[in-house]
Amino acid sequence: MSPRLARPPAWLAFLLFNALAVTVYLLLGTDGVMPLLYMALMIVAVVVAAVAIRRRRPEDPAAWWLLTGGLAASIAGDLGHAVQEAMGRDAEGSLADVFYLVGYLMELTALLRMVRRRAPGRDLGSLVDALIVVGAFVLPVWVFLIRPLAEDAGLSLLGRLTAVGIPAFDLLLLGLLVWLLTSGVRTASFMLLAGSLGTFLATDFLFAFAGDYSLTASPALIVVLTVTYLFAYALFTAAVLHPSAGRVTGPAPDVRPVGHRRLVTQAVATLIAPGLLAWESQHGRVEHAFAIAAGCMVMFLLVVLRMSLLVRQVQAQSAQLADQARALNELAYRDPLTGVANRRAWTAVAEAVLSRSERDGSPVSVVILDLDHFKRYNDTRGHQAGDLLLKEAGAAWSGGVRAGDHLARYGGEEFVVLMPGTATAEAVALADRLRALTPGGCTFSAGVAQCAPGESIDATLERADQALYRAKENGRDRVEAARSVHPLVVG
Ligand code: GH3
Ligand code: MG
Ligand code: MG
Repeated sequence: MSPRLARPPAWLAFLLFNALAVTVYLLLGTDGVMPLLYMALMIVAVVVAAVAIRRRRPEDPAAWWLLTGGLAASIAGDLGHAVQEAMGRDAEGSLADVFYLVGYLMELTALLRMVRRRAPGRDLGSLVDALIVVGAFVLPVWVFLIRPLAEDAGLSLLGRLTAVGIPAFDLLLLGLLVWLLTSGVRTASFMLLAGSLGTFLATDFLFAFAGDYSLTASPALIVVLTVTYLFAYALFTAAVLHPSAGRVTGPAPDVRPVGHRRLVTQAVATLIAPGLLAWESQHGRVEHAFAIAAGCMVMFLLVVLRMSLLVRQVQAQSAQLADQARALNELAYRDPLTGVANRRAWTAVAEAVLSRSERDGSPVSVVILDLDHFKRYNDTRGHQAGDLLLKEAGAAWSGGVRAGDHLARYGGEEFVVLMPGTATAEAVALADRLRALTPGGCTFSAGVAQCAPGESIDATLERADQALYRAKENGRDRVEAARSVHPLVVG
């Protein structure tokens, strides 16, 4: 079997076809062919995109149709201009410009639809980010493009409207592109679409700045502009052809964090207006003082707004973290069934109380209590009734201990009480008081031990446990005191 080259995917094949066509043209270098080739490739791009949308039915086809329609309208505009020029008329401000404006409106509508789906809810942060980037471009576009064109007395009203409208629309498109980039999923198809828009806008601005939207620029520049416009169209069609075309409108899994790149972009964006001021003052006359001041104010306000959104986000996150920490603490230190402290929490408190009593010499007693015949209770009434009894007993005893005593579930049907400032006799009396509070007709047996100087909490508990064992042996439903560790104070 002879090895076969794998066929490239449709989107890549389309890009390669365009690259090949342009290379052939550049090699031949026939001036007259350029406009024809340009038109032909544009029309092919739009037709292929339309066929692909019909066949593949991407998610939100309306947005894709609007984008394709917008491109078709701008081709119609180009054709109109070409016809006017061929007839020897001045194409500036002709009716053909209406096609451009309609095309822009379609593109804007499509991108707005996509933004709505990609940034659902209130991702205000990415909107403000987009406004900051657009804000950076507004001042130079106003100063160098819109104002001179708007004041150009040689232009007709429609011509002036187009001259002002196209850069304004480009700025809107740029804003939407940045907004799209800062929110939503980033599939290959989406990145091709974003690349197409970015290329288109870059070319448009280059065209505007270098040639005032007329082909009076140098022939070399015209070739560059033509090739990059073609590239933008080809990228758009590749985005439709890409298998991921169905998924360009989904929201991002998370709000994108504000990274280094975004901060650098914003810093550069805010420096443009003061930079222009510095430049103008170095060159003799500050010509655009009001526009620069207005630009600075708007940018400052946008940055402050962005900061306040970030602060709000951080506050919300830290409140959430505090809630989680509280919940974790509860889980770590509380017994989930009875709601009283668990063994871990009790041991920590007991150790602290013990070391304080070492210092001030006050007595500390511990009580360990164990429900009598609880197995039988479970067996006769069921495990759930047993659980309920544990819960009710925990609540009853909690209410019965003094403020400053610490009740905890030690495990199973065993509970412990730490009694700071309490000697054995008083602790026995308190344990007897708790015994009377036991619900459900149940009883418990308990052992009481007073901590001896230098004795660990485990050792004290061990003595209390032995006393509990004796209470069980002596017939249950009673409290026994442990023997003192000190032979002289045996009670
Ligand atoms: P004694 O008077 O000697 O203490 O008898 P007892 O039956 O209470 O003692 P034993 O240690 O034999 O049984 C303890 C029982 O406690 C066994 C177990 O099923 C029950 N138990 C332990 N933890 C729980 C719990 O969380 N829920 C319920 N319902 N029962 C529990
Ligand atoms: Mg037990
Ligand atoms: Mg028991």
